[in-house]
Amino acid sequence: MIVVKIGGSEGINLDLIADDIAALAKGGQQMVVVHGGSAETNRVAEALGHPPRFVTSVSGYTSRYTDRKTLEIFEMVYCGKVNKGLVERLQRRGVNAVGLSGLDGRIFEGPRKAVIKVIQNGRRMVLRDDYTGKVERVNVDLLRLLLDNGYLPLLTPPAASYDGEAINVDGDRAAAAVAKALGAEQLIILSNVPGLLRNFPDESSLIPHIPRGQVESAMDFAKDRMKKKVMGAAEALDAGVRRVVFADGRVEHPIQKALAGQGTVIE
Ligand code: ADP
Repeated sequence: MIVVKIGGSEGINLDLIADDIAALAKGGQQMVVVHGGSAETNRVAEALGHPPRFVTSVSGYTSRYTDRKTLEIFEMVYCGKVNKGLVERLQRRGVNAVGLSGLDGRIFEGPRKAVIKVIQNGRRMVLRDDYTGKVERVNVDLLRLLLDNGYLPLLTPPAASYDGEAINVDGDRAAAAVAKALGAEQLIILSNVPGLLRNFPDESSLIPHIPRGQVESAMDFAKDRMKKKVMGAAEALDAGVRRVVFADGRVEHPIQKALAGQGTVIE
C-alpha cells in the first residue's frame, strides 16, 4: 500500500500523474491518493472578488485564512474542479476512482481550532471566524470498503470537525494521517520542486537523502509551505511508515521515479 499526495501548486502535471497512477494500478499496486488545489483556489477566489488572505501563526506557519466564504470557494475548487478533474482523468485511463472529500463519511476528522493567533503587521491578533483544524482520525473502514472492492479512493480536504463542520486542513498532513492509519509502506509527496532543496529555489541543491533521525534538522532548510511537508513526513515516520519521498510532480512517471528513489528520500 502506498499513499500519494498530489500538490496543488502551479506546474504540477496532472495528466502525467494520472498516466502513472493508471500504470501502477494496472500492475496491482494498492494506492490511496490525496490532492490539494491551492493555486486554482487562489485564481477562483480572485475571480469571485474574495481574494485569498494568508496569515502567519505566532509559531511561524503560513496558512490560508478560511472564513465561511473562503471555505465555500475552497470546496468548489478542491471537491469540484480538481477532484472531479482527476476522477475523470483516471476514469479515462480505466481506473475506477472514487473522489471524496474528508467530510464525506468523516474520512478526515479532527478538532476545529476555536481561535487562531496570528501576527499581522507585527502585531498579535486573534481570529475567531476561521474554519481550520487538523486531522486526528481517519475513517479506515470506509477506505477499506472501497479498496477491497477495487476502487481507488481520491481524497481531498476539507475534513469534518468533531462537530461536523467543514474545516480546512493541510493536505500533506492529511496524507500522512492516511498513510499512518492504513499502515502504508510509503508516502509519496508530489510537488512542483524536485524535492527538499538546501538553497531554495536552486534545484541543483536537492537533498537526496535524509536519515530518519535528522528530519528535525531538515526543518532548517524548509521555508513556509515546505515546513508542513517536513512535519507530515516526521509524523508518518514516527507512526511506522517506512519511507517518505518528496518528489517532482512535473515529470513523466513521477510516482515510479519516486518509488525508485528520485527526489528527497526520508527513511
Ligand atoms: P503543494 O501545493 O505541491 O503541496 P506547496 O506550495 O505547499 O506545494 O509547497 C511546495 C513549495 O514549497 C515549493 O513550490 C517552494 O516554493 C516551497 N519551498 C520552501 N522551501 C523549500 C525548500 N527548501 N525546498 C523546496 N521547496 C521549498
